[in-house]
Amino acid sequence: MPELSEIKRLTRPMIGELIERYGLEPSRALGQNFLCEPGMVDKIVRLSGVEPGDNVIEIGPGLGSLTLGLADAGANVIAIEADRYLIPALNEVMETTGLNERVQVLHADALEVHWDQLLGDDTWKVIANLPYNVSTPLVLDLLRDQPRLTDWLVMVQHEAGERLAADSGNRTYGIPSVILSYWASAKVVDTVSNSVFLPRPRVSSALLKVTRHETLPIDAPFDRYAELVRAGFGQRRKMLRRSLSDLLTSEQMESAGVAPTDRAENLTPAQWGALARL
Ligand code: SAM
Repeated sequence: MPELSEIKRLTRPMIGELIERYGLEPSRALGQNFLCEPGMVDKIVRLSGVEPGDNVIEIGPGLGSLTLGLADAGANVIAIEADRYLIPALNEVMETTGLNERVQVLHADALEVHWDQLLGDDTWKVIANLPYNVSTPLVLDLLRDQPRLTDWLVMVQHEAGERLAADSGNRTYGIPSVILSYWASAKVVDTVSNSVFLPRPRVSSALLKVTRHETLPIDAPFDRYAELVRAGFGQRRKMLRRSLSDLLTSEQMESAGVAPTDRAENLTPAQWGALARL
């Protein structure tokens, strides 16, 4: 059997052994599906474009499968893990490989981290196999609040990835797609088989690449944009003159070049921006 200290990757038997030795019970509520295919880790690292010296935030390192790949590629990683029962095993994995000098393990809930203090004046990439139950709010809230997080490559539930990356006219286009477009562009770059995880998740997974806009293309206040988008998609089958009736008149919509008889899903992010600018 290969040694962890030599290959610096976690294999399926190694993960099984850690789970047993530490008496762990992978939690579905915390989305604990650990990557157990070194080839998949290498693919994520390659697709992320991470380079030696890059600053990387990893949300949900679990037992460290991806953390090892990132640190081995020369990145400086802050790994934020919410489950305190995993931390001793994660620390052991980092120490055994000698990659612990590049990795700071932080026991915290990523939804409650003091991000400003953590990120300082640097820019960061987010590379992570995200906990699926919180992946959409995490991506959208951090895009809004933390401009220092610039490039993302994240594993998410396939459907959530499609929704975040969808363009108008697409079946999955909705609130997450339009909100994300304000801050960034996104693309599903790969789909991922359930077989690369231990335990196997019930849902399928995808890799989502998110690139923050250098200059915001939509010249309108975000809060107003989000308010209109939520109202429009809240009643997505209705025409805008009904769904947005509390917020805009039909004349105002027309003055922004939007037909009041359109539905939310027909409007591009730029058109939502035009409405928000009024
Ligand atoms: N990155 C590891 C891998 O690929 O093997 C584990 C990924 S697993 C899908 C998600 C991880 O996120 C779990 O370790 C879970 O405990 C952790 N997690 C769940 N909710 C979290 C939160 N709010 N903040 C930080 N970590 C969280």
